[in-house]
Amino acid sequence: MIYFDYASTTPVHEEVLNAYIKVLQNHYANADSLHNDGRKSQRLMEKSRAQTAQLLSVSAEELLFTSCASEANSLAIKGFALAHRQRGNHIITTRVEHSSVVHAMEQLEQEFGFRVTYLPVNRDGSVDMNALRQALCAETILVSTMYVNNETGAINPIEEIAAIIHEQSRAVFHVDCVQALGKLSIPLSDIDMATFSAHKIYGLKGSALLYKKRNINLLALINGGQQEQGLRGGTANAPVNTVFAKTLRLALSEQTLHNQYVQQLHDCLCAELSELPDVQIQSNKNCVPHIINVAFMKVGSEVMLNALNERGFAVSAKSTCSSKSKAHSYVIAAMGLGEIAATHSIRISLSHLTKPEEVDALITALKEINHDYRTK
Ligand code: PLP
Repeated sequence: MIYFDYASTTPVHEEVLNAYIKVLQNHYANADSLHNDGRKSQRLMEKSRAQTAQLLSVSAEELLFTSCASEANSLAIKGFALAHRQRGNHIITTRVEHSSVVHAMEQLEQEFGFRVTYLPVNRDGSVDMNALRQALCAETILVSTMYVNNETGAINPIEEIAAIIHEQSRAVFHVDCVQALGKLSIPLSDIDMATFSAHKIYGLKGSALLYKKRNINLLALINGGQQEQGLRGGTANAPVNTVFAKTLRLALSEQTLHNQYVQQLHDCLCAELSELPDVQIQSNKNCVPHIINVAFMKVGSEVMLNALNERGFAVSAKSTCSSKSKAHSYVIAAMGLGEIAATHSIRISLSHLTKPEEVDALITALKEINHDYRTK
């Protein structure tokens, strides 16, 4: 298959894979065991935490390893809300978050009686700042927004959002940085909690991180032992956590170069797409170049996906975590782009690994499908 689904997950970097195999084979001892082998596993994992902290310009004790970004989002949102119910019961998020945030919010509303405000977004996919200003109140304890949207690549002005929150309230600011890592710089000094995932930056699946400022208390969601400051019980996945620092270092060291390359592919693809009839490009100047959301207004998302699949191309419609639901894209609908766009969109995601000739082949396939499968 020719892969255009890098926003869903990425192949593992060879150096990460080799390091992982080595650690897995040689350092399998439980990182909490007191014997020498256990201490060695612990040391390797803590070295990775310290190096990761240095790369993100934070302290090691502000980083918690988790099994995925969905878990980190759950821990940040539910862990914070449930630990601070006495301070207020209002939370703010947006209408375009990843399902792990949406479902955590819904659970807090339905099972625990929190009031959640879902902020609208502008046509470029960024948060409506006036709506944020109006929603903040004395009862607001938490605001959670994503940095880069996973369906459209739309970027939120994180520093501006942080300034408004901290000016107007005592609320804590959580940012889902999953699609921003390796693409944009992350202003962690303005953020109270942030989520990252390794498998979106050529790392391992089952590997993620929650950053939380020192003074922030959370309720543990997975009870167990002393692991991760008692906030996440269970034997540490030490080999996976040990290679997180290498994964991040590789992603950050080549960020600028990769961005420039991907921007070129993006511009070439968008120029071709914009020539096709009944095509609406929904990613705009306010988006990272890695994600192109496009609606073929006469070819439904599922038809397009299947036709591309038959021709050997892997793309997504909506977020992969919601791919099995028949519903339209709530992200495209929230941007006010209309119902047809919300049911006729696909997400093409690019990487530094994408070759120009692969983009050419995709364009040819899209032209054919847009011609052959269109409804009257
Ligand atoms: N947040 C965003 C913005 C995502 O794109 C994803 C994955 O698609 C997640 C969270 C969940 O990541 P994970 O697969 O590590 O749980």
